[in-house]
Amino acid sequence: MALDSVTIRAEFPILAQEVNGRPLVYLDNAATTQKPLAVLDASRRYYEEINANIHRGTHHLARAATSAHEAARETVAKHLNAAETAEVIFTAGTTDSINLVASILTLSPGDEVLISTLEHHSNIVPWQMLCERSGATLKVIPVHDDGTLDQEAFRGLLTERTKVTAFNWISNAFGTVNPVLEMVAAAKSAGSLVLIDAAQAAPHLAIDVQALGADFVALSGHKVYAPTGIGVLWGKRAVLDALPPWRGGGEMIKEVTFEKTTYNELPFKYEAGTPNIEGAIALAAALDFVHGIGIEAISAHEKKLIAAAAEGLSSLPGVKLYGPADRAGALSFAIEGVHHYDLGTLIDQMGVAVRTGHHCCQPLMARFGITGTTRASFAVYNTAEEVEALVTAVDRACSMLR
Ligand code: PMP
Repeated sequence: MALDSVTIRAEFPILAQEVNGRPLVYLDNAATTQKPLAVLDASRRYYEEINANIHRGTHHLARAATSAHEAARETVAKHLNAAETAEVIFTAGTTDSINLVASILTLSPGDEVLISTLEHHSNIVPWQMLCERSGATLKVIPVHDDGTLDQEAFRGLLTERTKVTAFNWISNAFGTVNPVLEMVAAAKSAGSLVLIDAAQAAPHLAIDVQALGADFVALSGHKVYAPTGIGVLWGKRAVLDALPPWRGGGEMIKEVTFEKTTYNELPFKYEAGTPNIEGAIALAAALDFVHGIGIEAISAHEKKLIAAAAEGLSSLPGVKLYGPADRAGALSFAIEGVHHYDLGTLIDQMGVAVRTGHHCCQPLMARFGITGTTRASFAVYNTAEEVEALVTAVDRACSMLR
């Protein structure tokens, strides 16, 4: 069933504005999504009605804030089909989640960490830091010219030395959807721990962590209609229970003496300090918003828009699209003789917001011999008219720049 764009867009007040005298066409959703009223209301209600620090409080507001925070955790657990709510750790976002995992693992010289060429810097640098610390080696799955990972090479790189395998579900740069189920199964049968960067999957796909079979899944709230500063690390209990804590401080302890500290149970063991209480509550509201529409309906809607954008842009002279035809979320392109930065700046003058540059994927850009692309990325509230506006703006900008 087609989405009712008018009703959906009415949920997002920010979209009603004009930019440079033109209706805003917001196509930078892979960077961050806009927030619906349900999320804004949840944040506001939290501060208007129940703001207090959570856990251990004896007073009414502390109890109300604690139960809202823990109810939010349950909503996330249900959304991810986690076996237990305690496997959901609130973090500041995907970057924070991946750093958490890379920081609690201990590797030795000779061990290997396997990532892919498609990774965002936040799924590269924490592993490089772990390798530097431990003497382990970073290995990289190559990518084909069409922006899909070389699965044969991946299988060849998996050995008994592979201790961690980390890759994204959907590439933020090219929109490539990786065959995660097969990749996780292969890495698990090689005996590796597996982390999935689901930052771009969360807004476009249903995530079932039990079906996925990975050990860790990381995501950011702000890419799925929630505020910035809140994210999730889902981790298998058996794996996290056996690993040490990360940051030390309040909340993550059972008992502290100057001689020795004992640590709290999951999920609190990994949640030192006062968390982003409002963020967690707003994230739950965002996931409820997504459920209200249905992730399948959202993704079918976006797929149509991406296909129309790909068709419209490739009909323009000199346009090269990156990534496979079956992409999700993002569409990256380059135009012969036109710098992506100039293009982005000019189409902003026409009200169209896209991202240009390396998209935090410098090694991927280097692999393709480019410094960056122009990326249009889609969300539930985008429309076919906006795709037309994008294509028209790009066409006009090109004739001005050439
Ligand atoms: N991984 C991917 C695939 C992403 O798209 C992003 C955000 N662009 C990140 C990781 C990092 O997310 P955050 O900045 O929210 O921590």
